Formats: sequence, structure tokens, C-alpha cells
Amino acid sequence: MRCNEKWTERIELKTVILPTGSMEAHGAHLPFATDSIIPERIAQEAAKRTNAFLLPTLPYGNTQRLSNFKGTISLTAQGLVYVVKDILKSAIKQGAEKIIILNGHDGNQHSLQVATRDVLEESEKNVKIMVIDAWWNIIPENVLKELNITREFGHAGKEETSVMLYIASESVAIEKAVEQKFVEEHHLTKYYFNDRKVPCEGRPVNASKELGKKIFDAVVDSLVDLIGKP
Ligand SMILES: [Zn+2]
Repeated sequence: MRCNEKWTERIELKTVILPTGSMEAHGAHLPFATDSIIPERIAQEAAKRTNAFLLPTLPYGNTQRLSNFKGTISLTAQGLVYVVKDILKSAIKQGAEKIIILNGHDGNQHSLQVATRDVLEESEKNVKIMVIDAWWNIIPENVLKELNITREFGHAGKEETSVMLYIASESVAIEKAVEQKFVEEHHLTKYYFNDRKVPCEGRPVNASKELGKKIFDAVVDSLVDLIGKP
């Protein structure tokens, strides 16, 4: 993380990565910070390989939907827009020409898009901002097929739990993982409701470190490619 470094005249912020997460209940087996830990570790690896300037991870997101679960602390969607806009504008002022937002939490997507649009609209500089709505969106199709998984990751489900087992096994209580039904969602007509009954979905019981490593490596490779593209 570049925030641990000391200032010098030579510091360059041409390409910047901002990981964004949430403080949100992730079942009894994963930590509240899961959506921050994963994109942060992915971004750390990619930054090492590309020399991109890695900003500290934004640990809060818009997670009102799980506010029934104690410990979940949320920004409003509007609050998140303001915070992200300020970070982007500040990075641009410091010379950023390309900014990659690597998001780890579903609920942040709209705010990140709004913030980015607003900043581009207001900026006089020639800057590119890439919003990766969710880190799992950049797993290549062939890898999904090979691993026999889909992009429909359940919240705290098998895939997310596998990645956590690989990168932060000390924070996973796998013995507390239980199988949970997916909360039904329709992708074209999104139905908003307030009564999510479980803070986890899918089959985290089937998670494995091996699967986690394969997913993690594939996402890091993809991110490195994306950073390298003009
Ligand atoms: Zn998550």
C-alpha cells in the first residue's frame, strides 16, 4: 500500500487504483470486511506488477440492504458518491491520468458510476476512470468454465469464501459456514426489498483454498492486463 511510503519529489500518480469495499455481515464464517479485504489483496498484487499507485481501500460502502444485521455499518448512496468524488478529484489534482476503481461490494456500483460521471463532467483534464463494478466481473469466461462456476456469486458463498480461504484463512471460521438459498433476484426488473433474511447465500461449505487461488490468480492477471491497456 502506497500510504505506508514516505513522500519524495519523485512520487508519481499516473495510474492509480482505488479498492472499494463495505462493512457488512457476511454470514457467521466471514469477516465484516470481506468486501474490502478481497479487492485490496487483488489490487496489491496487480500494483506490484504494474507500478500503479495503490490508494488505501475505502472500508465503508452502501449496504443498507443488510442493515438488519448487527455490525453492518453503511454509507448512504449519496454519501458514497460524495466520498468517491472527493477522492477522484484529489487524485486527478495530484496528476492521475488513469484511475481504476476495483469494487468488492455489489451495493456500491451505482454510486461509483454516478461519482465517476460527475467527476469526468467537471474535470478539465484528460483523465480515464475505469470502474470495475465487481472484481468477479473480470474473471475471464474460459476460467469460469474451467472452474465450473458462474458469475452469480452468492453473498459469502462458495467463491467468495474460497478466495478468503486463500488470502486470509486466519479470518475464516469455515466450521460455521452453512448452506443458504439464494435470494431471488430478477436482473432486468430489479425488485428492491428490505427483508433479506440471511447474511449469506450459496454453498460456502463447498469452498476450498485451491478454488480460491485459481479465482484470485485469474482476477489479478485480468487486472494487470486492464491496467496495461491504453
Ligand atoms: Zn461480499
